[in-house]
This record gives sequence, C-alpha cells and structure tokens, in this order.
Amino acid sequence: MEVRLARKRGFCFGVEDAIELAQRTVREHEPGKVVALGPVIHNPQVVQDLEKAGLNQSGDLEQLAPGTTVLVRSHGAGPDTYARAAEKQLEIVDATCVLVKRAQTVVKQLHEEGYRVVMIGDANHPEVRGVIGYAPDVIVVDSEADLDRLLPRRERLGIVAQTTHAPEHVARMIGAIAARPFRELKVVNTLCLEVVRRQEAVAELCAEVDVMFVLGGLHSANTRELARICEQHGLPTYHLESWDQFRPEMVAGHKVAGVTAGASTPDYIINEFAEKLRALQPAEA
Ligand code: SF4
Repeated sequence: MEVRLARKRGFCFGVEDAIELAQRTVREHEPGKVVALGPVIHNPQVVQDLEKAGLNQSGDLEQLAPGTTVLVRSHGAGPDTYARAAEKQLEIVDATCVLVKRAQTVVKQLHEEGYRVVMIGDANHPEVRGVIGYAPDVIVVDSEADLDRLLPRRERLGIVAQTTHAPEHVARMIGAIAARPFRELKVVNTLCLEVVRRQEAVAELCAEVDVMFVLGGLHSANTRELARICEQHGLPTYHLESWDQFRPEMVAGHKVAGVTAGASTPDYIINEFAEKLRALQPAEA
C-alpha cells in the first residue's frame, strides 16, 4: 500500500530532553532509588523501557523515603510539589519542558501584575494541574460554556493556554472572551511551536491520502489533537499506540495511507508501522 508520512512528526525536543535526563539519572543512581512522579511522557512503550532501565513510578510524594530522587516529568509540577519534596528531604531532578516552565512563569507574572489568570486547557491534564499552581484561583476554561464562570465581568484577565492546544481552538476561545465586557485582557502566547508544526503538517497530508493513522499514547493530548484534525478533514482516522493494534479492515478500500505521530512517539514505532503498512499486498489492503 502507498504510505506517506507527515513531514513533521514524532519526538519534540522537550520529550527528547526528558527521556535523556531520566536515563542519565537512573544510570547515576543506585537501582530503585529514582522515582518519577507519574509517566515521564505520555507514551507507554517509552515508559516501559525506562522502567526496565530501573526507573520507578509513583503518584504520591508522601510514600517516598528521605533521600529518594524524584524526577519531575516533562509536564511539570506545581510549587507545592517542590516544597513538599524539600520538606521530605527528597532530591529533585527536574525534567519539565522549558516551554511548560515558561507557562508557569507567565502565570506567576500575570498574577503579580494584578490580572486574574485564565488558562485555556483541559483541567485534568497534568501540565494544566501544575501550571495553575503558580497563581491563586486560576480559572481553567476549555469551551464557551465554561466562560460563564468568568465573573465578575469588570476584572482584568491574563490569559494563557495549555502548550499543546490547537491555535484555532485557542483563538476561538480568546475571541469569545473578548466578546464579553471585561475591563482588560492580556493574552500571552504559551502555545508550543513544535506541536503547531505537527498540526500544520498533518493538515497538509490530509489532502493527499484517503485514510490516516495517528500514532501515540491514547492519553497524549497533542496526539489526540492530531487525530481530531484528521477527522475534521473528513478522513477515516485511527489513533493507535503501535502496529499491534492495526487491523487489515482499517485500510480496506483505501489506496493511500497517511501516518503521523504525536510529540512523545519514538521513531522506531513510526518506522515499524510505516514499513509494515507499505508491505501490505493489495488483497490485504
Ligand atoms: S510538545 Fe512542546 S511543550 Fe510539550 S514537551 Fe514537547 S516541546 Fe515541550
């Protein structure tokens, strides 16, 4: 079958840096002494590889013994996590992506400048849960229905967004906020260009193919966004974690398949998938 790859896909620099730091930290410590606060990135295969190398995982600082090395993942953490780790005499190794760090700093600065901070994002995403810890009473909104929570209307709002959100969605939300009578809006662009470039590339690819495969962790926000863009283009779209989840009926009746991958998907998963898809004979496809 003919297979075309998105010109920008897979690992971003933030994920590469986080994996490298996790591997180095595990190598430099005794086995079992390094604990990540949740999955280092949203990709189960990469997380399994790190676990095999000796990285433990825990969602709860309270269970860790003094002297344990704690790895803060690429999505970052709130200031309470760092404070509690210091109280418990845990060593922190910080794999927070620099762009997530910037969003945290921006939220703090907006609050210090007197703005009520509004974050456009998914309230359950670990990045958002961490970022909103840098100012009191941050309001998280992700749909126009959420905007009714932005009261009183005479407030000065400082607006940021989850780094992995789509620019069109963020622009729509900002437009909807601007249509309401707030005294002042200050918008700081916290979107990640790595993600935006993958979204632009997949939109281009959608015009050339008749079925799309989006590879990446099912919990990965930026991978899910890529799948949403493909669906918006009217293509049959499959969000899979690896070739194991592929079924021949997914390509039945299709001639050209497109493949892209989220920012936490390693090249070996993308390459294996594309090779196996290319090897399918017409009768199988
Ligand atoms: S997608 Fe962007 S914000 Fe997220 S880890 Fe990668 S570079 Fe950082």
